[in-house]
Amino acid sequence: MICFLQKLALSVCLVTLTTGIFFGHTMAAPSAQNGKAFENEKKALFDIVIENGRVVDGASNPWFKSDIGIKDGKIARIGSLKNAAARERIDATGLYVSPGFIDIHSHSDAMPFMQNPDTGKLLQGVTTEMVGNCGVSMTPWSPKNLDLLKKYFTPFSYDTPMSWDWPKAKDLMAAAEKTHPVLNFGYLVGHGAIRIAVMGNADREPTAEELEKMKALAVASVRDGAFGMSTGLVYPPGMYSKPEEIIAICKAIAPLGGIYTTHMRSETDEVVSAVQEALEVAEKADIPVQISHHKTAGVANWGKSAQTLKLISEARARGLDVTFDVYPYTSASTALAVLLPPWALEGSDLEVMARLKSPDSRARIKKELEEGLPGWQNTYKASGWDKILIAWTKNNKSYEGKTMAEIAAQKGLDPADALFSVLLEEEGSPFMIVFMMHEDDITAIIQHPAAMIASDGVLSAGKPHPRYYGTFPRVLGKYVRQEKKLTLEEAIHKMTSAPAQRLSIRDRGLIKEGMWADITVFNADTVEDTATYLTPQQAPVGIEYVLVNGHVEVRNGKYTGQRAGMVLRR
Ligand SMILES: [Zn+2]
Repeated sequence: MICFLQKLALSVCLVTLTTGIFFGHTMAAPSAQNGKAFENEKKALFDIVIENGRVVDGASNPWFKSDIGIKDGKIARIGSLKNAAARERIDATGLYVSPGFIDIHSHSDAMPFMQNPDTGKLLQGVTTEMVGNCGVSMTPWSPKNLDLLKKYFTPFSYDTPMSWDWPKAKDLMAAAEKTHPVLNFGYLVGHGAIRIAVMGNADREPTAEELEKMKALAVASVRDGAFGMSTGLVYPPGMYSKPEEIIAICKAIAPLGGIYTTHMRSETDEVVSAVQEALEVAEKADIPVQISHHKTAGVANWGKSAQTLKLISEARARGLDVTFDVYPYTSASTALAVLLPPWALEGSDLEVMARLKSPDSRARIKKELEEGLPGWQNTYKASGWDKILIAWTKNNKSYEGKTMAEIAAQKGLDPADALFSVLLEEEGSPFMIVFMMHEDDITAIIQHPAAMIASDGVLSAGKPHPRYYGTFPRVLGKYVRQEKKLTLEEAIHKMTSAPAQRLSIRDRGLIKEGMWADITVFNADTVEDTATYLTPQQAPVGIEYVLVNGHVEVRNGKYTGQRAGMVLRR
């Protein structure tokens, strides 16, 4: 049976054909009937037709050849549109046409407020970013602890002047909307932000009253349109919370459809028990869980992805809704200060700095670093000082691009003392890159059916992790074309409809009539990342066109200056 829309499409094609011929002749004026046909044709005018491309629809179907007609920001027609009128035609001969990529794990929270937003994500084909990850979000806040939250958020602020006029999620979303962002933004509420609002940076369990306040803040955020709650259990104050606290808050947001995303308590020696904790939280709170940037880091933990992926597969088999994301690099990146033990990071900056100067505290930190600590604090022990690269510094730029081993040698200091000295000189703020994962684990994690691609990218000056500029093209170049670890259709699925489905975004992530026209057009023969550790700020190649809500924001690999992004609400 031909449905109404198909009939309409068929008649519109014929109409366009006849009117085209008709106006080409001078011998006859339009009859009443043809005048009507012309009106119909005007109605059918597409804003853009992308023609002759190979469509990868995001649902893992084999690519198919089709044109795509876009009108009023949406995908209006899929099929042959050779004769359809359109304001603009994009010739995608030899190219692939896919849904725009959804970066489900991003730290671009400040991006809408930047004077000149960075286009590093857009040029990769990303059209939607989910921010508020790893427990770090810019809302909610309480007046008494706003300064603490601002400090907590500093690594992701990109020095952007911001009003911070958003005590609640709905205020932040409204403020972001007013800026007309380049991309679409969705929000998670950070458990860290909630905890700071209620109990500052305290290293203790919440009282019953405090827990109720945290639950209420999480619920209000999800009601405002946040997609769920994220935790950062290796960072203060997330590291001070027990699973019971997280379970209680997740239980409160689960009935509203919010999800739980987690930067787990360990991605090194304790990674297996950390996965177990994430699964336990999801099971007890009856909430879908997304394990963030999954990895098994540190030489001693290489190969443990076999155990973690088995746990995840078994959990799915018994009905637990668990999925995860991964970035395609063997190095991680975060703040240098996380190498310190939790007790050393408690309280204000001044207190942390005082500990770094105190001989007694220094001796205790050194001893604990040697003994090994859970979480990020185990980085040195697991990987060595020569694998810790300084990515960005505020004051002493000569540290950027050097390892902690090199800096220690340069200073003539023991590496732990060099760490204290760098943290003091830089007021605790440097960013690092640590080479700590094995390629075989990355491959196994990427190939798992429950895996999605995400960047975890953090923009900074200096030498930020190249994942911010290269994640998505790197998967298409390295893992699809060169190494054939994924088919093109699988890879696109992991970048589009899989994250859309995880977030319950029903109108994006697929090439389908009626969906928002977030579309990426790329050359599968050439696409790849060019960002490296020493020269990260480089756009990829092979991403030819990117459309956001039907607007061409990238043409022939270059940003067009359009700002057509929207704020998405759950
Ligand atoms: Zn994280």
